[in-house]
Amino acid sequence: MSKPNHQKASPLATTGRVIGQWLDSDFRREDSPDPSNLPDKVNWERTLPFIFLHLGCLAVFWVGINWTVVLAAAFLYLLRMFAITGFYHRYFSHRTFKTSRVGQFLFAALGNSSMQRGPLWWASTHRHHHKHSDEEVDVHSPVQHGFAWSHIGWLTSMKNFPTDYERIPDLKKFPELVFLNRYDQVVPFVYGLVMLAIGAGLEHFAPSLGVTMGQFFIWTFFISTTVLLHGTLFINSLAHVWGKRRYDTTDDSRNSYLLALITLGEGWHNNHHRYPHSARQGFRKREFDPTYYGLKILSWLGIIWDLKPVPQRVKEEGGTTQ
Ligand SMILES: [Zn+2]
Ligand SMILES: [Zn+2]
Repeated sequence: MSKPNHQKASPLATTGRVIGQWLDSDFRREDSPDPSNLPDKVNWERTLPFIFLHLGCLAVFWVGINWTVVLAAAFLYLLRMFAITGFYHRYFSHRTFKTSRVGQFLFAALGNSSMQRGPLWWASTHRHHHKHSDEEVDVHSPVQHGFAWSHIGWLTSMKNFPTDYERIPDLKKFPELVFLNRYDQVVPFVYGLVMLAIGAGLEHFAPSLGVTMGQFFIWTFFISTTVLLHGTLFINSLAHVWGKRRYDTTDDSRNSYLLALITLGEGWHNNHHRYPHSARQGFRKREFDPTYYGLKILSWLGIIWDLKPVPQRVKEEGGTTQ
């Protein structure tokens, strides 16, 4: 007979569970409650790494500003945003193009450095969003659950923490992706070490730049990653309340030029909800979609191929033939 899961766990068991969860995303002690039965509320123990990420930004008052580190942080924001939009989203979640096994692993690892958890959890959660957009069960719908919960709250709830591998049968067959997904703190840790090493190198070998190791680390690890996280999260929150609706979709998705600027083209969210199967989200020429331009360059280099286009009928439905 299985144990009732409302038993009070001992402090030692709780500590073991908390540490286990931090190290292994798929870890769940037998005596811990089934996450799907938990109330949808902030779980502070699970959220500590995200709190740590945000608090780290405050160290900017201690290290100050230097244009070299600001440029480096901006470059890493753009590079990793591309990995999230082009690969976590358009490749893993929607399969809008093809690539090699090595290619998918490398871009999955780059996306993983953004501290937005593993590629399989991200894709699994996102596929659920498309299936149930702005319904009661949509975990990050601003229409259903309010702006703050749709932006960041849902991410802090234990209910939304496990990866539902049933939604990603095409991805769970790759053990290297499952590894990244289970141990999703490994890549961010390595990323942090690399940033410390580059910062130390610049401080030692290029003193004329005036960069210190701590300054480089705070900007490229904490600030770049936190801004990147919120930029991405705006698509869940703002892109369902702010902007124009070209297509009469069953959800509240919107198109916004500003959000497209911040997220390298993901702001054309109403287009995307109308037709999520194309590599392009800016359906018109004027709709700035740098992720798509980057994907085109990768296709010319032979790194990716078979980019799925926007069907003519969908363009015409939106009032354009471009
Ligand atoms: Zn959406
Ligand atoms: Zn999507």
